[in-house]
Amino acid sequence: MADAAASESASGKLVIRNIGLMLSGKIEDPIYDADCLIAVDGKITQWGREKDLDTEGADTLIDANGTTLAPGLIDSHIHPVVGDYTPRQQQLHWIDSTLHGGVTTMISAGEVHMPGRPKDVVGLKAMAIASQRWYENFRPSGVKVHAGAPVIEHGMVEEDFAELAKSGVKLLGEVGLGTVKDGKTARQMVDWARKYGIQSTIHTGGPSIPGSGLIDADMVLETGTDVVGHINGGHSALPDDQIVCLCENCKAALEIVHNGNERAALLTLNTARELGKLDQLILGTDGPAGSGVQPLGIMRMVAMLSALGNVPAEIAFCFANGNTARRRNLDCGLIEAGRSADFVLMDQAQHAPGKHILDSVALGNLPGVGMTIIDGIVRSQRSRNTPPAWRIPEIIG
Ligand SMILES: [Zn+2]
Repeated sequence: MADAAASESASGKLVIRNIGLMLSGKIEDPIYDADCLIAVDGKITQWGREKDLDTEGADTLIDANGTTLAPGLIDSHIHPVVGDYTPRQQQLHWIDSTLHGGVTTMISAGEVHMPGRPKDVVGLKAMAIASQRWYENFRPSGVKVHAGAPVIEHGMVEEDFAELAKSGVKLLGEVGLGTVKDGKTARQMVDWARKYGIQSTIHTGGPSIPGSGLIDADMVLETGTDVVGHINGGHSALPDDQIVCLCENCKAALEIVHNGNERAALLTLNTARELGKLDQLILGTDGPAGSGVQPLGIMRMVAMLSALGNVPAEIAFCFANGNTARRRNLDCGLIEAGRSADFVLMDQAQHAPGKHILDSVALGNLPGVGMTIIDGIVRSQRSRNTPPAWRIPEIIG
């Protein structure tokens, strides 16, 4: 397992050649005409046809062997606690396992599974700041975990948000998981958070586990968070008319999660498409949760939405990388110069139907992951979790 030091070491020049298909993460232009990509010290510099690029002097040379390269997948909704361990299901190495599902970045929606989680203001601030630090300082297997997402409680004042922001906190946990369950108070606190550059999300739908409560469409609209967290419920979805209302009225990111209602996920997708709002769709797992951890959750969502929602696979992948990066202001998730060299390389799974990888995914099949790269450094090779790919990339030197 890679440690923090490995993730911080300079990666030099990375050349990936012989790429069969390059997905950009850009919903407006999802496939690039390119077979080669170059990154220097962990940042993308060039891509295109190999003959047109300067591939000399590579510190790391990868032969993609005709596989598909995409920006690493992003899980917009996780509940981490500490390191690569979750007490929620007593599970070790769930983040490493998720890396094998092609996920290179994860975003906390609150460290709510911490046993004895403090709910007093001083305590919740201290835990958020500590969480932000320990995932900044330790990346499990190289995965970028953006954590330190306090759950708002009654008694918080503007100075608390200023202090959190000054201390490095950039996210709020799901509004509604704490004692604040009225729109007016939530709105005030979300406005304070936004004023100091802290992004917000909300627990949309019925209670997840004993202790959490119902958040309906009126509360979501009044609170005005940056992300409509699990619009398809986690687990229990809102009634259809409320989901449609949120799609119609929100400019916020519409987040669909694996740990939610799949029928409601498809309703969200279809409604967003009718409204011309596919660029607002982002994906999460909401794991670890009562339903466990989902190492392949993001990949499964891409395949499910593509297959049952009739979305081309190259567009569905954008829900899992580029859209999320844009909505979450991340420096990864898109093939663009200067962005982090975080990639997943994959191919059609062995014996999965379909004419090619995109066709196979659109038929509901998972691709096989052959390699992940974060900050220009290879983090995993043939996935131990996906079905095996026909072809896998090779490190040549
Ligand atoms: Zn939730």
